[in-house]
Amino acid sequence: MLITNAALITWETDNRILPDHALYLNGDRIADMGPTAELRARYPDAPTLDARGQLVMPGNICAHTHFYGAFARGMAIPGDPPKDFPEILERLWWKLDKALTLDDVRYSALVCLVDAVKHGTTTLIDHHASPNAIDGSLDVVADAVTQAGLRTCLCYEVTDRDGLERMRAGIAENVRFIKSQISKPQNPNSQIAATFGLHASLTLSDKTLEACRQEHDGGFHIHVAEHEADEYDSLKKSGTRVVDRLNKLGILGDKTIAAHCVHIDYGEAELLRETGTWVTHQPRSNMNNAVGAAEVDAMLRAGIKVCLGNDGFSNAMWEEWKAAYLLHKVTSRDPRRAGGYNVAQMAIQNNVALANVFFPNSKLGVIEPGAAADLIFVDYHPTTPLTAGNLPWHIIFGFESSMVTTTICNGKVLMKDRQLLFLDEAEITTRSRELAGRMWERYGA
Ligand SMILES: [Zn+2]
Repeated sequence: MLITNAALITWETDNRILPDHALYLNGDRIADMGPTAELRARYPDAPTLDARGQLVMPGNICAHTHFYGAFARGMAIPGDPPKDFPEILERLWWKLDKALTLDDVRYSALVCLVDAVKHGTTTLIDHHASPNAIDGSLDVVADAVTQAGLRTCLCYEVTDRDGLERMRAGIAENVRFIKSQISKPQNPNSQIAATFGLHASLTLSDKTLEACRQEHDGGFHIHVAEHEADEYDSLKKSGTRVVDRLNKLGILGDKTIAAHCVHIDYGEAELLRETGTWVTHQPRSNMNNAVGAAEVDAMLRAGIKVCLGNDGFSNAMWEEWKAAYLLHKVTSRDPRRAGGYNVAQMAIQNNVALANVFFPNSKLGVIEPGAAADLIFVDYHPTTPLTAGNLPWHIIFGFESSMVTTTICNGKVLMKDRQLLFLDEAEITTRSRELAGRMWERYGA
């Protein structure tokens, strides 16, 4: 397929914006690129997709999300509003996840996937929990992802908070799913990857963490120091802070994701850097839960690989760019914080590097010959000069997620001119509303 009349944003190491260019896709890859006239002459018989002067760029990547949380939208929490994050966990999330059935898990994921296709997020790293529907839950999510045509890395959040049996079932679900993915040699370019999920230090005993480590040595995905409570709990349990505790138990490393890291200290930051552990930043979630603002500028300066996730907020990653850009300025009263380049470092360079850990056979996040054909068309016509240098500020102040008109993942067009081609949004919406209503009743809203 030939994509013509595009203004390409390549996001190569030296980013370039190339007007009136074309891309030739061969299967799941970008095979060739160049000026439209040249590529038309080279591939005269290729079916053409005319970008009509829109920006064409790599699809967005989300480094940490929760597909299971979609049914919380508009749901009331009975009683007084929760006063802090531990109360939000106990009264909202740890009740909501228990109310989920496998059908809910499927439709909650589908709702998020529709959102991701529409808003140009093509790779998502999910962290799943459904304590009363654990077995096979990752297959259900993977099915929904396959139906959507997107790319995801999945895991199940192991925790001690629901008893021994469910803790063991969580471990078994991760192990089973990881094995099922590894045993697919016939499909080296699978769009589903697996890692091992852990909820958070505060709901995991040493014994459980040791059991997880024994079962798996390929990296973990865990919440870290999202609130002070995680640090207090770790100090009480082990006499050490969260990151030290996880390090001693062999959880950190260059395949491990530590989500949030809002309340880590300098020693913990140094340990994250030394071990090559990935950190993810979710500013909208941090603001919503009133947990504080992670020291992302300092972490980036120290060489820590900080990525950008959405923690279950809309799969419109530019919203997260904007929140990151604004949050750190107001909390520090310093307009120099979280500048455009730092936000791009998280959302582009670091997210791409993290995604490539899970999809080593697909070169993600860049437009160049040989890279994966994960592409979005953005109907943005700048009213001021747009250059590779000032692009982050155009994204933050000018881009809207609704400007995404076409989404392609692994060479397959998933949305064309805002029409979803593989997901039936009306059916998903109707069914989701029914299921969510019933789930709210079980939750007691
Ligand atoms: Zn999270």
